Amino acid sequence: MVNTLLALPHEMPSPGTTFCKCGTLENASKEPSHPIRWDERMQEYYLDLGQQRHMMIHYCPFCGGKTPESRRGSFFAHVTQAEETRILLLFKDIRTVSDMIARFGPPDEEREFGTTVRHPEHKGKPACGEAYRTLVYNNLSPVAHILFAVGTGDCVQGSWMQKYTGEPKI
Ligand SMILES: [Zn+2]
Repeated sequence: MVNTLLALPHEMPSPGTTFCKCGTLENASKEPSHPIRWDERMQEYYLDLGQQRHMMIHYCPFCGGKTPESRRGSFFAHVTQAEETRILLLFKDIRTVSDMIARFGPPDEEREFGTTVRHPEHKGKPACGEAYRTLVYNNLSPVAHILFAVGTGDCVQGSWMQKYTGEPKI
């Protein structure tokens, strides 16, 4: 799932090498009616799309400068290469919900729209989107949630997501 916005104006010196100095994002984020918002804790600008849907803004759409370095990474548990490999091996031979339950038991959570995918318009083909019921295990890894998106015929697609560890101690 890609949940980011890369908005680069057409004419711009060295895209993304300097930070935004024009202040347009900052000013917009202070207007209550504006969809551009600022998350003080995460140090991120985002578009508020309503219904708790956010799109992160990495570049200022006005001057092309970078937005501040997000602190988001440090809010989540680190998944080492070894742990990632171990997790991916958990998915081996798991094809359906039955395979999944046989190996791991009942999931801890069920999210009706846990995984959403959007395919952008491309080469004359219209954009389209999908939503998958997602089954979540919280205790298969100390550092990651394990998610299974459920497709047609109860086939499942495994993925992982870092666990939230809270405010970093600075
Ligand atoms: Zn700017």
